[in-house]
Amino acid sequence: MSVNVPNISYLSSMKFSEFYDKYKDETECKEKFRQIREQTGLSCKQCKGKEHYWKKDKWQWQCKDCGFRTTLRSGTVMESSKLPYRYWFAAMHFLTVNKKSFSAKSVQEELGHKRYEPIWAMLHKLRVVMGVRDAKYQLTEWIELDEGFFEKVNDGKVDSEEQEPSVNKRGRGSKKQAKVLVAIESNPETAEDKDKKHNKGRKAGHLKMIVMDDLTKKGINYEVIKGIDKETVVQTDGYPGYAGLKDIVKEHKVTVMVNPIEASAVFPWVHTAISNAKRLLLGVFHRINDKYLQNYLNEYCYRFNRRHMKEAIFDRLLVAAVSCTSYGYEKG
Ligand SMILES: [Zn+2]
Repeated sequence: MSVNVPNISYLSSMKFSEFYDKYKDETECKEKFRQIREQTGLSCKQCKGKEHYWKKDKWQWQCKDCGFRTTLRSGTVMESSKLPYRYWFAAMHFLTVNKKSFSAKSVQEELGHKRYEPIWAMLHKLRVVMGVRDAKYQLTEWIELDEGFFEKVNDGKVDSEEQEPSVNKRGRGSKKQAKVLVAIESNPETAEDKDKKHNKGRKAGHLKMIVMDDLTKKGINYEVIKGIDKETVVQTDGYPGYAGLKDIVKEHKVTVMVNPIEASAVFPWVHTAISNAKRLLLGVFHRINDKYLQNYLNEYCYRFNRRHMKEAIFDRLLVAAVSCTSYGYEKG
């Protein structure tokens, strides 16, 4: 498959042309992908052996113990994909380059690829990987926990949600609100944090956003046990679904809010995170199918959680991409 020279005017950023200088061609990307796989460690599917020979002519590894061959893509997010490595690299770049999201349509145009669906699927696979990676981290210390309601569309058209809504499409499907549990580390600021531009009195740490079937006590407790360290202080409003938290965390602080000013003092970060995520996602994707909302939130959280990393965020996603297939299986 030939890889098109991209039309960089579409998303026109210097960073993108720098990116293309670094990963000039397919071989360059494959070589980088191989290095990252070897750094993260290979495990033979057949005998779990860790030692491998690299067979350069075939772009495969061969297990030193049993001779089993591992292809460059197997066991990674690219498993079963026929798209060029360079597309995947470009997609990872778009997902991490700045605070914005890019629609599959714009990435497709940027890459000059004929079909929309494979590009759309590639981006979603990467968002799944982002979620798997972030799920490994448990929030600690002081947490703000709240629920957000995101607009969703459920019209059974799985690949329609990112298309520009045309006149015909408008109004089709049922508009509903998806329930999202949002938790963010929010620790008191130290003296040196005080000069920062956000003067919220608290410092935001790691963020999680989880699409929920319901906001019952049972469902909330399940997610809190999974995603939040038990030695934490969790701050919520008076919603009854949070009533079970006192049994599973160190301290549950409940504040029943009277007005928005008070709410922003008690929850300086969780409300900001919710409204920023809504603005960003709906601004780019217009119509989000409820089946894929979690993936978009994964992307938002992944970037938020690595907001201080600069360029390293791309390499981190590359590490996640070689460690995990798009169905969430993580190799041993
Ligand atoms: Zn083996």
